[in-house]
Amino acid sequence: MCQRVLMTTEKTLSFIVPALNEARNLPAFFSALEGILPQLGVKAEVVLVDDGSTDDTQAVVESWLPRISLHYVGLSRNFGKEAALTAGLSHCRGDVAILIDADLQHPLEKVPEMLAHWRAGAEMVMTVREDRSDESLPKRLFTWAFYRVLNFGTRVEVPANAGDFRLLDRKVVDALLQMPERNRFMKGLYAWVGYRTVVLPYTPAPRFSGTSRFRFFHLLA
Ligand code: UDP
Ligand code: MG
Repeated sequence: MCQRVLMTTEKTLSFIVPALNEARNLPAFFSALEGILPQLGVKAEVVLVDDGSTDDTQAVVESWLPRISLHYVGLSRNFGKEAALTAGLSHCRGDVAILIDADLQHPLEKVPEMLAHWRAGAEMVMTVREDRSDESLPKRLFTWAFYRVLNFGTRVEVPANAGDFRLLDRKVVDALLQMPERNRFMKGLYAWVGYRTVVLPYTPAPRFSGTSRFRFFHLLA
């Protein structure tokens, strides 16, 4: 028997968004995201990982369900951003994933450029901050010292100015999910798994609403 099968070849993109008490940022974030979707040339879903929020984060997500393709993953308590990102990676279905914060500090305008690099063969597009002046002096000093110690004498360098705002091809997502580490330092794992990487500079915007959840002792841990 001879059959003709036609299948859609449209690629899919998963935005992975960790959120701790982001009810005041999410409407602006979702609406900015909705605005760029038509120009991406991929079908997009959002995996929103609620990292134990105690505000209206869940209700805000529910109110957006009719407007964008959303997948809500609610964690039972606050586990921290690294664990939230891992949960997001394991729930995403896209051919490609972009990790992005909910507070609009990561410019969505960079997404088309990230996808262009991916289409040209990059397996990871990592962004590096051109400017850290939005961060407190203790956080900047700590970050500097932390990476000096971390990268001392190692084979795999973890870049200091790179954040979690990055694109990962499905191959990289699967490689990260196969790593057995339970207590995960994502930026170290990205460097460890390798893959063809493109670096894009960006300037972080100020937080749309609220304050950073950066806690000195949390970061130290
Ligand atoms: N976040 C999270 N769990 C946490 C702390 C933060 O999911 O325990 C999320 C937060 O909602 C935001 C992103 O991680 O989307 C970055 O957090 P934040 O803006 O506080 O950190 P900073 O921008 O200072 O690195
Ligand atoms: Mg932030």
